[in-house]
Amino acid sequence: ENYHAVLTENRKLFNELQELKGNIRVFCRVRPFLPGQGAPNTVVEYVGEDGELVVTNPTKPGKDGLRKFRFNKVYSPAATQAEVFTDIKPLVRSVLDGFNVCIFAYGQTGSGKTYTMTGPDGASEEDWGVNYRALNDLFKISQSRKGNINYEVGVQMVEIYNEQVLDLLSDDIVVFLFTLTLHTLGILSTISQNGLAVPDASMYPVKSTSDVITLMDIGLQNRSVGATAMNERSSRSHSIVTVHVRGKDMKTGSVLYGNLHLVDLAGSERVDRSEVKGDRLREAQHINKSLSSLGDVIFSLASKSSHIPYRNSKLTQLLQSSLGGQAKTLMFVQLNPDAISYSESMSTLKFAERVSGVELGAAKSSK
Ligand code: ADP
Repeated sequence: ENYHAVLTENRKLFNELQELKGNIRVFCRVRPFLPGQGAPNTVVEYVGEDGELVVTNPTKPGKDGLRKFRFNKVYSPAATQAEVFTDIKPLVRSVLDGFNVCIFAYGQTGSGKTYTMTGPDGASEEDWGVNYRALNDLFKISQSRKGNINYEVGVQMVEIYNEQVLDLLSDDIVVFLFTLTLHTLGILSTISQNGLAVPDASMYPVKSTSDVITLMDIGLQNRSVGATAMNERSSRSHSIVTVHVRGKDMKTGSVLYGNLHLVDLAGSERVDRSEVKGDRLREAQHINKSLSSLGDVIFSLASKSSHIPYRNSKLTQLLQSSLGGQAKTLMFVQLNPDAISYSESMSTLKFAERVSGVELGAAKSSK
């Protein structure tokens, strides 16, 4: 019907896509103050239209305490889930054209990483995070291409805790918890894995958003197994939802593969080594190691180093196919708005600033 509108949108998406290829993008999102948090005392002074963010040092009032950052996008605390998704839609859609894409959320615990990636607990459609929206959109587009290109979609979900990869959709737990639902999902996927799947983790074929919701519920349930409190555990582990797409061109018979990694990283807060011992210290060391490995991979890609240290952590090993080369990478930098979080916010922002604008793999002359 609205042919011209569609055409214009497609052209816009295409241009944005060309720009994304081979680069890492950084989008910064500031969480709003939550009800009951007391009198808001913010350090995030100004969120600019053009990707600018100004942070004030609470102990240094006035000009001296101001620090300005610039990212590809900066969201005000009022930004909705739908607005955020609109900006990453082209990236998500490119998976159906055979690209590998990685979207991850980085920030201290409580800064909104899970909110951005998944949404709040028991989210209604309006509150859905990137994960559900991405799958929903992939189904929508693949439906519209049916007959020309036929797609199969498979999902894996793992958690990395203390450098161990745990399958969140592991068969026996799934069968145990959700025998009935399993019938509607079918058996283990027949989708060709193209060598990119998480080794040994179960993969399920999905046909609709409701399949995805069911699977993610199972994964989230399993994530809390063995944890004293779910929030504690989830802030100390990385969770990765991997979407595999296989598309068959019905005219030529050629087949394409794309994958999408959706990563909710462990909290980036620094832990005072003198204060923690035992399990906590071990967890903190593993988190530091994997987050710094992620940084190392990104920075060595940027410097076109001949050795990219993917193998230094489980996280970078799993994400290898979507970091570098023709892959497209997007990082959500999450911030707490309050003054107490100032020093954590600054270290998050400094990491983000180093990552921002880094060119990965295929170089592009204009930016
Ligand atoms: P993290 O995953 O970084 O530990 P969460 O996503 O759990 O943080 O967010 C902490 C709290 O803040 C949660 O209660 C969450 O629902 C809320 N929250 C985070 N971001 C937003 C937002 N943009 N709008 C409303 N509430 C948010």
